[in-house]
Amino acid sequence: MRVAFLGPPGAGKGTQARELAREWGVPHVATGDMLREAASAGTPLGREAKAYMDTGALVPDDVIIRMIAERLRRPDARKGFLLDGFPRTIAQAEGLERLLEDLGQPLERVVYFEVSEPELLRRLTGRRVCRACQTAFHMVSAPPRSPGVCDRCGGELYQREDDSEATVRHRLGVYARQTAPLLDWYRGRGMLVSVPGEGPIETIRGAVRGAAAGARA
Ligand code: AMP
Repeated sequence: MRVAFLGPPGAGKGTQARELAREWGVPHVATGDMLREAASAGTPLGREAKAYMDTGALVPDDVIIRMIAERLRRPDARKGFLLDGFPRTIAQAEGLERLLEDLGQPLERVVYFEVSEPELLRRLTGRRVCRACQTAFHMVSAPPRSPGVCDRCGGELYQREDDSEATVRHRLGVYARQTAPLLDWYRGRGMLVSVPGEGPIETIRGAVRGAAAGARA
């Protein structure tokens, strides 16, 4: 199973990826999570990335491609991987294609999560995330059982700095300009499958399973 999840911020990629990577027994490779970890650890990579992330801009392609190359060369990625939030530019997709060719492990499917812009804004501005396990909640539509505490692991919930309304609008613009062109790029290669990203989480999960199952055909 070598799959990438593509879609705007707030489309539900991370929520589905965390469950499905476990189900499929492959590593969940989320560049946003990796960068946030590096930023809170204060590594040179993290410090460089944070300046971009805080404004909602993309971290430069060469930094991201190096980070992904290091990650996908690790032994646990030999059985497959689920990419979440990467690639996000045509240059990243080209870098990934070259890397996977070197590794003899081509990408099989790209699953695109389709969600309307008003729904993305609603989800992102109300989102709260667990510091420990990254599980996402929504203050109104999916609140935790006790306020501020993760149902799954008891960790502390927080609002990501880039989930403020102004930064969210900027991120959606960045998506439209820099990431959306990947839809045609992957469609042209016959790799793109779309799933409706609105509705009950379980229904969406079923659609993603179906879309990714094509990867094994
Ligand atoms: P995410 O958690 O996927 O919403 O990513 C949060 C932020 O991390 C983005 O707004 C970017 O600043 C940065 N980031 C994550 N993945 C990438 C990527 N593939 N390319 C460039 N920047 C990224």
